[in-house]
Amino acid sequence: MLVYLGLISNENMQLEGFWYYLFTGVFEAATIHYAVAKIFGPLVFGRGWCGYACWTAMILDLLPYKTPQGPRKKIGFIRYITFTVSFVFVSALFLLQIGNLERIMFWSFLIGNILYYAIGIALAYILKDNRAFCKYICPITVFLKPMSYFSMLRVKCDKEKCISCNKCKRICPMNVDMTDNARKRTNATECILCMECIDNCPRKALKFICEKS
Ligand code: SF4
Ligand code: SF4
Ligand code: SF4
Repeated sequence: MLVYLGLISNENMQLEGFWYYLFTGVFEAATIHYAVAKIFGPLVFGRGWCGYACWTAMILDLLPYKTPQGPRKKIGFIRYITFTVSFVFVSALFLLQIGNLERIMFWSFLIGNILYYAIGIALAYILKDNRAFCKYICPITVFLKPMSYFSMLRVKCDKEKCISCNKCKRICPMNVDMTDNARKRTNATECILCMECIDNCPRKALKFICEKS
């Protein structure tokens, strides 16, 4: 998607592209992509996009801090700022009737991606956490988090098997408390379905289940 739709077909697949095609009323790949992967799809498969398909995380996951080295920071509000900046940027282009919007969208796609990679990599090293960008900066989580709260696919714990060793919580890249089966568990909307906790539980107490919200 990044190479073919973004770079070859010049379609902005970032959040700015979603706003742009939404405002123009054109049903392009970016609109479909957001609807399926980031708005309605998470009702079924949660943040599976973040675990298996995101081209930003594709690079971040290669960095050395797969398991976070410190506690989670209380700076998640930054995602609302980046989300608002993206919306205001595209709205301003329309309100000011700027010309050559397709070209501006293509360049904002390139520059936006380069910025995401640069900030994401720097933050991963500073906070010793590969997924710091996902936790605090990524504007797409403004869609992903509330929708994935209702996800049918989720990790659940068999309390009878669990021995409370906490290995699962120590290795979770997103700081989820997956031993709590409630939907309101700590960092519930952060699970990226990576399966690390399931694969590493010595008691095989964790598994994916499909349930209705
Ligand atoms: S939070 Fe954002 S950057 Fe991270 S994997 Fe999900 S969409 Fe990609
Ligand atoms: S790793 Fe398994 S046994 Fe240990 S706390 Fe987690 S679910 Fe329980
Ligand atoms: S380790 Fe488990 S709870 Fe944490 S993100 Fe991966 S699948 Fe979700």
